[in-house]
Amino acid sequence: MSPTSGAAPHPVPATSRAWHLVRRPHGWPQPTDVALREEATPEPGPGQVLVHNRHLSVDPYMRGRMNAGRTYIDAFELDRPMEGAAVGEVIASNDEGVAVGDHVLHFLGWREYAVVNARAAVKVDPDLAPLSAYLGVLGMTGLTAYAGLLRVAELKEGDTVFVSGAAGAVGSQAGQIARLKGAARVIGSAGSDEKVRLLTEEYGFDAAFNYRSGSVRELLEAAAPDGIDVYFDNVGGDHLEAAIGSLNRDGRIAVCGMISVYNDTELPPGPRNLPRLIQTRGRIQGFLVGDHYDLQPQFVQDVGGWLRSGELRYRETVVKGIEHAFDAFLGVLRGDSTGKMIVTLD
Ligand code: NDP
Repeated sequence: MSPTSGAAPHPVPATSRAWHLVRRPHGWPQPTDVALREEATPEPGPGQVLVHNRHLSVDPYMRGRMNAGRTYIDAFELDRPMEGAAVGEVIASNDEGVAVGDHVLHFLGWREYAVVNARAAVKVDPDLAPLSAYLGVLGMTGLTAYAGLLRVAELKEGDTVFVSGAAGAVGSQAGQIARLKGAARVIGSAGSDEKVRLLTEEYGFDAAFNYRSGSVRELLEAAAPDGIDVYFDNVGGDHLEAAIGSLNRDGRIAVCGMISVYNDTELPPGPRNLPRLIQTRGRIQGFLVGDHYDLQPQFVQDVGGWLRSGELRYRETVVKGIEHAFDAFLGVLRGDSTGKMIVTLD
């Protein structure tokens, strides 16, 4: 492998670590379902680069990839490194378009060093934003919030908006974008009193509740006495049923995720009050962020501007060390994180 710039050569260890899926979880993932394995550090071939990963993303959707069978994305292969977003520094390059020292976003996370096809590596600028931001507020979760709210739910000025999972990466951004785009009232739910305080005191939600403190239906009715026009669903289950129950005429529900059922071995029955969609002329639409990358330039312009002006805030929960990446992933599913969960490597 030959560095393409004059940067000082970065020592490449002969071996490095990667997380493998070794068994498909049944219900909640267990430590015995995965293994952190030491393997030969791969070498880049023609058109490839070697990336020293600095930050790894662990996300709820990865739970689905641990199951057998394809959904909208392939299942993780057994006894192979798992995949996911990561940002890192290029330390060797066999491609003219990517230089040693460049920082790139790519999809071969869960490992310390990755050989990435140069065409699949997106250059990012660490001087414009901290590298980890490209995994969250300026990355996939940020675009999910932006596209889900503005394009799928068709947010309008004056709407009352309800966001579940509101202290998480997607939810905290969705709620703030709603406020910045002229929603009349933004309501959020989260799983602890501390997170609820964050929503109103730091992110500017008008009202928030702890969904563990009572019936979601009653808590939502109290927070939104005049009903809701938009529901941004990260959770499913009783949150979705409550949102349908509070939906106003021509209300829109964007189904982003249903984290409350990701570890269920049998799916619970769906919302009992679907007939309410008839009288409200309501609409429920699922979406995948991957279908909305055409919004990326507009997203970066809007979100970049709000970050610079301080109108949009974000938090990260940072776990240090690749050996803790699986715990960090479980932490996302459990609700240990506030904002985007990031695994930072040494
Ligand atoms: P978060 O940062 O929001 O982390 C997940 C949060 O979900 C936890 O912190 C926890 O917070 C909450 N949670 C866990 N279990 C439950 C439960 N049973 N009921 C209610 N809340 C629960 O993750 P992301 O922002 O990355 O993702 C949010 C959602 O968006 C997920 O459902 C994810 O799958 C989905 N998603 C969808 C995409 C798409 O393209 N459609 C793309 C990206 C994400 P708390 O303490 O509040 O319980």
